Order: sequence, then C-alpha cells, then structure tokens
Amino acid sequence: MSCDFFKLANEGVQGLMPYQPGKPVDEVARELNLDPDSIVKLASNENPNGPSPKALAAIQQELAELTRYPDGSGYGLKTALAKKFDLSTRQITLGNGSNDLLDLIGRCWLAPGRNAVYSEYSFAVYPITTQAMGAEHKVVPAKNWGHDLPAMAAAIDENTSLVFVANPNNPTGTWLSETQLREFMQRVPENVLVVLDEAYSEYVSEQAYPDTFKLLNDFPNLIVCRTFSKAYGLAALRVGYSVSSVAIAETLNRIRQPFNVNSLALEASLAALEDEEYLQQSVVTNQAGMLQLETAFRELGLSYIPSVGNFICVEVGDAEAVNNALLKEGIIVRPLRPYRMNEHLRISIGLPEENQRFIDALRKVL
Ligand SMILES: *Cc1c(COP(=O)(O)O)cnc(C)c1O
Repeated sequence: MSCDFFKLANEGVQGLMPYQPGKPVDEVARELNLDPDSIVKLASNENPNGPSPKALAAIQQELAELTRYPDGSGYGLKTALAKKFDLSTRQITLGNGSNDLLDLIGRCWLAPGRNAVYSEYSFAVYPITTQAMGAEHKVVPAKNWGHDLPAMAAAIDENTSLVFVANPNNPTGTWLSETQLREFMQRVPENVLVVLDEAYSEYVSEQAYPDTFKLLNDFPNLIVCRTFSKAYGLAALRVGYSVSSVAIAETLNRIRQPFNVNSLALEASLAALEDEEYLQQSVVTNQAGMLQLETAFRELGLSYIPSVGNFICVEVGDAEAVNNALLKEGIIVRPLRPYRMNEHLRISIGLPEENQRFIDALRKVL
C-alpha cells in the first residue's frame, strides 16, 4: 500500500489552499469555445501596454548567453536600483518576483509558535506564507476596505515576528499616507519586522504617499518589497526586489537560491528600469482607464472602492453570477471569493478599447 504523502506533509502545509490565479486566456477559450484573440483579460493587474521595447531588445541580446548561469549577485540590476533610489547595493535583495521575497521573509522569520499580523482583505500571499511556516495568523479587521493601522499595532504581541502591510493594498486599492505609516512604525516594537509591499507604488501620484526608502533610516525593522511585474510590465519574467537594512538583506541572502533571478529577467528589468518613457506611459494609460471605469460605474449606478492601483473593485451584487456571465462574453475579471468579498469583482485597468469591451459586457449582463 502506498503512503498518503499529503498526511505526511508538515501541518502548516496540510492547512494550505492553493493560490487561485486569474484564469489564463487559453483556458477560458478552451472551456467556453471562444476565439482566444477575442478574449479580454483584466484579471491579474498586468500592464496592458505590452513590454518595453528596450526590455525586449535586452532579452534578444542576452539569448546567446543561455548556456551560462546568471550573475547570482545581480550586480547590474542592483547597481542601477541603488543609483536610481540613492541606496547601497547591500540593502537590496532580488527575488523571482516579489512573491519570492515574501516567501523568503516568511521562511526566515516565521515558525510554529510565532505569528504574522496582516489585514483582512489584503494580499493572498500573506496567509499562504504564514500558513506554510506553521505560524499563527493575526488577521485584523479592515476599516473602509483598507488597513486599520492602529488596530494592527494593537494586535502585535510577544510572539509576533512579522507584520505585512500592502500599500496600495491589493485587491482593494486603498492606500496609506506617510503620516499614518510613521505613526504606526513608532508603535511597532523594534524586534518586529514590518514588510511593506509596494507592488503598485509606481502608479501612485498622491502627495501624501510615502517615500518609503527614506523611512528606512528611521526604522531599521522595515523591509520594502517592489516588483517589475506591474508598472514595469514584466510579470512573466518574475523579478522583484526588497530594500532593507544590510543585516536583513544578508539574512535573506543565506536562504535565497543562488540563481533565483534568471539572466533574461535581469537584463530586461535593467532595461525597463531605465526606460522612463515606458513607465510614464504606463501611468498615463492607467489614469485614463481608471477614469473611464469610474465614469462607467457611476453611470451604471454601481459603487466602487476608490483605488490608486492599476485595478478597481466594483460592487455588482452576486459577483459569481456576474463573473460567469462576463466569461461567456469573453471578459476575464477577478471574483474575490477567496477574499470573502462576495459582492465585488476586481477589474484590472486595460487599454481604452479593452475597458470599453468590459463596460459594454457589464451593461449587458447586469
Ligand atoms: C502583484 C503583487 C505582487 C507582485 O508579485 P510578483 O511576484 O512580483 O509578480 C506583490 N504584492 C502584491 C500585493 C501584488 O498585488
């Protein structure tokens, strides 16, 4: 008789549910017998502009080197990041997407008997990482769909190792000001590490949004995670980075896989980082699309959660039914059942014509 290896997995792992990603276009095309080219995917907060031509050129150049291992230290990319943000390369850790970094952080500082504090309606990877390490979850109720930082500070106890803060938050698109964040950090004990997930920071234009790398000088228990998957348009390549104290970076480096970021990804993200025109265009496309969707929601009498990210949550009643009807129209958006937001759909901002296809389909199915 064969063993049940699921039962032999560590207890944390046995309690896990797999992450549910946005449905891939080809899967929906197969299931519903639709032409893949006619499908609009607004489900995974991807950049609708396509990759930077400079990133594509960099990949082309690097292809001839595929037999070689990548530069495990990520020297070129780290140097460029350090220069751009006035940091030391020793503060930077590269990851296979910022999810890799969130996972590395969990593996370094979580364990059975310890806990992680995070908000209701925040990114699904925080509970997954916490659960996988057998640590306890301290989920703090959200306030107006966003993080209630005073309540999160109050939830910290002597077994707390990590606090996850997403700014802006996914899936709700809410954000925290520099003042709110500073007040919070002043209340966090210095032995508790605060993980500030800034996957969408490049989209935010609010004056009061923090320049978080500056906060690192005042709060050495802070680690900031960013990504090339969203505004930089390289989700498929999997590149993220964290900025922290040197001591934290050196700890992460002990468990990081030596070649966790591949060479095509390193070269492409370096090129994307330097393509400021591309980044600006991403922000402009996003602002226009956000306005387009907000206007349509108001016309349809639907309420939505104001968002500073590249996505927006709209309240549609029975979200599962609306989602299924939209799929039949060839529109993929994100139902938020895993977040217990049963009445909302999350829509990633697309190109103007994609947004319009979604709006027309939504009007039809409602
Ligand atoms: C998309 C996203 C990330 C980035 O994931 P990658 O692994 O870098 O692609 C991280 N945090 C949040 C909140 C996100 O929405």
